[in-house]
Amino acid sequence: MMSKVVVDIFEWKSKRGGEGSGNFGHEGRPGEIGGSGSGGSGVSKIMEINSGLKDIPVIETPAFGQEILGRYDENKNIVYLGKEESQKPLKMYQDEEDGTPPFNRFTGKDATLTHEYAHALDYDVGKQTSSFGLYGRAMSETSDEWKNMFDYQLNNYKLNGRDGSVISRYSMTNVREFFAESVTSYMLDPEWLQSRNPAVYNLVDLTLNSLKE
Ligand SMILES: [Zn+2]
Repeated sequence: MMSKVVVDIFEWKSKRGGEGSGNFGHEGRPGEIGGSGSGGSGVSKIMEINSGLKDIPVIETPAFGQEILGRYDENKNIVYLGKEESQKPLKMYQDEEDGTPPFNRFTGKDATLTHEYAHALDYDVGKQTSSFGLYGRAMSETSDEWKNMFDYQLNNYKLNGRDGSVISRYSMTNVREFFAESVTSYMLDPEWLQSRNPAVYNLVDLTLNSLKE
């Protein structure tokens, strides 16, 4: 029998102290992460990995509803950001009381842009390293490490989806979303990711360090 390890994020943040701990959300509700002293936004952090990301045009579009917050078009190399989302502050969601992970762990402009830039990074590396010359395939789709990690996490999600280790329900969509959600969590709250899912934290850390310009 596997014992459940469910970390209450509110408690975790309070214990951790420091930035973002004061105004965190309560049961089942999102909390805003403090904006000061956190060492920069997710967007600025991912741009430290690849400064070329700053050249990608970001187009705000009213066409997205609540469901789709943003999109990366890998053929045109354009990031689309929902207009509503572009006005929202960064929020982090904790697991529901029964342990069910939230659909998105982070929302708000900074989170959504970080997620979309992670896709851009994934496709950019995929193009450069694909030994099959497969243009337009993401690195995460061809990397054994990422494919295996996604398969493992998806299997764990199906068996123990409430064990506290799942980044978000959306991250279980496919390996590309898993990569983008993992990178976003790593950028926005590395301590959280490391405590919840050290294996994913380590893989992101290894991958990003190898990609650093
Ligand atoms: Zn995505």
